[in-house]
Amino acid sequence: MPRIVSVAPRLFHVPLAEVLVDAKHGDHHQFELITCTIGLDDGSEGTGYSYTGGKGGHAILAMIEHDLAPFLLGRDGGAVEALFEEMLWHVHYVGRGGIASFAISAVDIALWDARGRREGQSLRAMAGGADRSCRAYCGGIDLGFDLPKLLDSVRGYLARGAGGVKIKVGLPLAEDVARVAAVRDLIGPDLPFMVDANYSMEVEQAIVAAQAFAPHDILWFEEPIIPDDYDGYAGVAAEGGIPVAMGENLHIVEEFDHAFARAHLSFVQPDASNCGGVTGFLKVAERARRHGVTLCSHGMQELHVSLIAGCAGDGWIEVHSFPIDAYTTRPLEMADGRATAPDEPGTGVVFDWVKLAEADLLRHSETP
Ligand SMILES: [Mg+2]
Repeated sequence: MPRIVSVAPRLFHVPLAEVLVDAKHGDHHQFELITCTIGLDDGSEGTGYSYTGGKGGHAILAMIEHDLAPFLLGRDGGAVEALFEEMLWHVHYVGRGGIASFAISAVDIALWDARGRREGQSLRAMAGGADRSCRAYCGGIDLGFDLPKLLDSVRGYLARGAGGVKIKVGLPLAEDVARVAAVRDLIGPDLPFMVDANYSMEVEQAIVAAQAFAPHDILWFEEPIIPDDYDGYAGVAAEGGIPVAMGENLHIVEEFDHAFARAHLSFVQPDASNCGGVTGFLKVAERARRHGVTLCSHGMQELHVSLIAGCAGDGWIEVHSFPIDAYTTRPLEMADGRATAPDEPGTGVVFDWVKLAEADLLRHSETP
């Protein structure tokens, strides 16, 4: 029984090369990376992480430091699934979902990384080993780009070997439709194309928008409305004429249960960094399979490539705009529309700590 002997969380602020905008989160100037490295008494070690769009990182760090670390020290670090449940109940009164799910995710991913390293298993294999690669599309945070810049950005995705492209919507409808039409015109009739409103619309408005986007052959309409309105999603799916997708804002498995039961999703997009780590993600994956919903992912492509490849179902990873690849030792391998999962034991995500520290210092030195 490998006992946990150290829990070391860290917070990094990573600047973005330019300000990125969507319909609901305001301007992104930076992202926050919260890492958690766990040591066990057999000498094994693992690193997990979560991230934010630039706010909340200190609260996640504090919950790991003050509430989860003392709870975990001395425990059996091999009992990953049991610890997941116990962590949920340890902090549920103040943090069911939200901050607690981000903090638990970072810890859980660290425990899976350590498990894989101990057992010589890649995350892809531990997730089921269904495939070595999975479909991958590029998703932009591009609502602030004018049309020429948007099209340039999409050309960049194609040059990288993306199997599909996704753009933000949430401008006045005529503008959204013009951008959708221009992107479809650029990529041709065959490439999968998705749109994402970041829950900026009301149900009726989303139905009208979906009907206007539908002639441009949209694979899915992502987060048209607020995530909690599961019945509203069913309405958009029924009347909009485009399959609907969501999941990045569902943080506990019960929320996914409601979504599977009521929202008429065609695609579900859990994010292991905020739905309970690998353990939470695999619980959603099992439910998706049971409900016949295609399992995809949100963000964190460097980790999700192993989970989507490993789980059966031919889902998509989103290759996100935050430049995480610049801070790991293995940039995502993408070609011909697919991304390949790493074979290294553990998650296969190894951070360049020096670069992360330098980025964090740079950001602090620029803060007035
Ligand atoms: Mg999204």
